[in-house]
Amino acid sequence: MIPESHPRYESLLIREKIVKAFKEGILADSGMIAHGRGEAFDYLLGEKTSTPAKMAIKAGAAAILLAKNPVFSVNGNTAALVAEEMVELSLLSGGCLEINLFHRTPQRVNAIEGVLKQAGAGKVLGLDDEKLKYLDGIESPRATASPGGIYDADVILVPLEDGDRADILEKTGKTVITIDLNPLSRTSRMSSISIVDNIVRVLPLLIQEIRNLKRERIDKLQQILDNFDNQENLKESLKFFKIKK
Ligand code: ATP
Repeated sequence: MIPESHPRYESLLIREKIVKAFKEGILADSGMIAHGRGEAFDYLLGEKTSTPAKMAIKAGAAAILLAKNPVFSVNGNTAALVAEEMVELSLLSGGCLEINLFHRTPQRVNAIEGVLKQAGAGKVLGLDDEKLKYLDGIESPRATASPGGIYDADVILVPLEDGDRADILEKTGKTVITIDLNPLSRTSRMSSISIVDNIVRVLPLLIQEIRNLKRERIDKLQQILDNFDNQENLKESLKFFKIKK
């Protein structure tokens, strides 16, 4: 039991969820290491959502609302931390959920599907019985995507994606929204919209922003998107990391 007065209370609760998900086969061992890297960045960020992250969330919400076929990608870490919010996001915006794993095994795909279903998901894409297609004809396990899902999407939210995959996705011309605490990662640098913040804080804010913007005119949403400059936003995000006393 972690006492609420502990200075790292929230962070330790999240860590417990990650360990539990690993024990339940939802998360690969490397997913725990990826989480540790994220924790370190969050520590330096003061575990708070920065102003540039809020701007990226608003741009992401506008992109999702403008999308014809938005898709929300779910990996082990995402399923462990924000399964319910991902389901809510897909229901709110009419987009699909797709299981998208770096270390793909049938057991993990099943376990993650179970978590999403328990959180209220309808159809889940990216299952093993589907015939996955290769993005841009690149015959690599990093380029697989579900037809009707990431393969056909115009806007994709890929939280905690790996750099090679983000690169492939970006080259397809799709709008790639990522959530990554590391503003220096290849994923952050290559995506169209990079939200530099902890996924557990981003999802409720993104859902709220979509609700706020849902009735806006298309030209207003397009303006929010056009005014967003990802490279500039990443530079601003970096300023929020405290590396001095
Ligand atoms: P890249 O290949 O994009 O250069 P990487 O090798 O660091 O980056 P991975 O290890 O594949 O990428 O992915 C982990 C990334 O996810 C890390 O950048 C880490 O900061 C981030 N991350 C981990 N946990 C969270 C979280 N809870 N919220 C947001 N980002 C997170």
